[in-house]
Amino acid sequence: MSSPPRTKPLSALATVKPRRSSKAKLSTRLSPKARVRVAEIFARFQAAQPDPRPELDYISPYTFLVAVALSAQATDKSVNKATERLFPVADTPRKMLDLGVEGLEPYIKSIGLYRSKARNVVAAARILVEQYGGETPLEREALQALPGVGRKTASVVLNQLDVEPAIAVDTHVFRVSHRLDLTQAPTPDKVERDLMARVPEPYRTRAHHWLILHGRYTCVARKPKCPECLVADLCPSRPLYMGV
Ligand code: SF4
Repeated sequence: MSSPPRTKPLSALATVKPRRSSKAKLSTRLSPKARVRVAEIFARFQAAQPDPRPELDYISPYTFLVAVALSAQATDKSVNKATERLFPVADTPRKMLDLGVEGLEPYIKSIGLYRSKARNVVAAARILVEQYGGETPLEREALQALPGVGRKTASVVLNQLDVEPAIAVDTHVFRVSHRLDLTQAPTPDKVERDLMARVPEPYRTRAHHWLILHGRYTCVARKPKCPECLVADLCPSRPLYMGV
């Protein structure tokens, strides 16, 4: 199944049709009726896919961190293709540091922004070796201090490794959340805040994956596949795309 680029500038989301938000909607609190609707949406995602997995391949916390960092503005498929060759050679910060920028670049050449990503991955490896004894610290502050690791990358890593629930907001999560009226917030940080407050706790660690997968394969940017959407009857945006 082909998937669109994993990330796009949020400004490119021309197909997100903003809905007028009332003052009440700016609050993270939902009405009881809205809470029931949101819970039903996630109950259906869970029923359809109880154990959603990231599509990035990895073999350890460190390799997951590298894979997520490489996936910015690239498809998971292209990252997997590169790391399939890279990780047998460099699956620890020490080995990555030994590989160096010039040694790493040929492995990740097919990925967008590979030069700056190579510099960041090797600089991060140096910090992990020199300051953390070659281990990967599973703390937000420490992760976000690494070159090339922002809030979104740290959230994806910490959530996937069961350290802390987090809902990283990429282009798919942003678009789907708006279409489903889970939020009308204008920035990824505020969308994340709303989702963390509104997604019922039992679904929170998997919400990120469900929203990404739904955005990749069903609620796609240009022509969402509403007729085959499992939450269509709960979606206020469906009439915009189906004309009903
Ligand atoms: S009904 Fe259409 S717009 Fe709404 S979530 Fe489903 S695919 Fe997206």
